[in-house]
Amino acid sequence: MMNNINADLHCHSVQSDGTLTPEFLAQRAHRNGVELWSLTDHDVISGQVRAQQAASDLGMKYLGGVEISISWAGQTIHIVGLGINPHNEQLVEGLRKTRDGRTDRGRAIAAQLGAVGIENSYEGALTYAGNPELLSRTHFARFLVQEGICKNTEDVFKNYLVEGKPGYIPHLWATLEESVTWIKDAGGVAVIAHPGRYKLTELQKHALYEEFKEDGGLAIEVVTGSHTPAQFEEYAKIALKYGFLASRGSDFHDPAESFVDLGTLPQLHSSLKPVWSLFQL
Ligand code: AMP
Ligand code: MN
Ligand code: MN
Ligand code: MN
Repeated sequence: MMNNINADLHCHSVQSDGTLTPEFLAQRAHRNGVELWSLTDHDVISGQVRAQQAASDLGMKYLGGVEISISWAGQTIHIVGLGINPHNEQLVEGLRKTRDGRTDRGRAIAAQLGAVGIENSYEGALTYAGNPELLSRTHFARFLVQEGICKNTEDVFKNYLVEGKPGYIPHLWATLEESVTWIKDAGGVAVIAHPGRYKLTELQKHALYEEFKEDGGLAIEVVTGSHTPAQFEEYAKIALKYGFLASRGSDFHDPAESFVDLGTLPQLHSSLKPVWSLFQL
């Protein structure tokens, strides 16, 4: 049931840590055959009006989107909101609070990198940030690659900016309940992003899914650029087991950095109910 439309409901623009504008992303998605698209920038919805307009100009269907950073069981988890109204005040205000602290975190990251001899990384990272309110580890990663300290961003996230390595600063993001509430208040559907990426025990994963459902979360990403093909199967089973709707999205950031291009992943298995079945398209 509508599983086989080409939906790509996860990607990033220069408003967060992607490198393309909303308009260029829309063109790229459309060129790759995407029929239903969502721009899901990290903790920011300043690209939504442009993305919606660009999609509409190309005759491509669009769902308002966001990817919210939350802290849960001491880990950072991402919750995608789809079908959100980008003008909703609670959502706008909640995201503003969530973004707060990124600048201080950036300075602390730079101080740690300075201690291992990497100078001026705060200023360096900022030159990559299209939106100074949204300084991301990705911007530090691009700076470290440009400086020749790492060969690519993948290499950066093995040796820097992660727990136990230089440039790791723990951060307290929004709560699971806040993120789901903001998304619901804005008329959207909450989706657990790339569940295969979190280092959680089986028991913790079960607790996350149950708590997410209690808060009103409805969907998980099954086919994402962050999952292996084996994980497409694994999370299809999880979706069926917990009664989640399923989502599909590339998590595209940049033509050179992203392994998966917009609209090119396999379709959701026909046994799954797609998250877009909830929307009048
Ligand atoms: P932040 O929200 O500032 O902590 O940055 C998180 C971003 O870093 C994610 O959205 C990814 O784009 C990027 N990232 C995290 N881990 C990796 C990884 N292993 N490889 C590539 N990019 C990563
Ligand atoms: Mn990102
Ligand atoms: Mn994510
Ligand atoms: Mn993402």
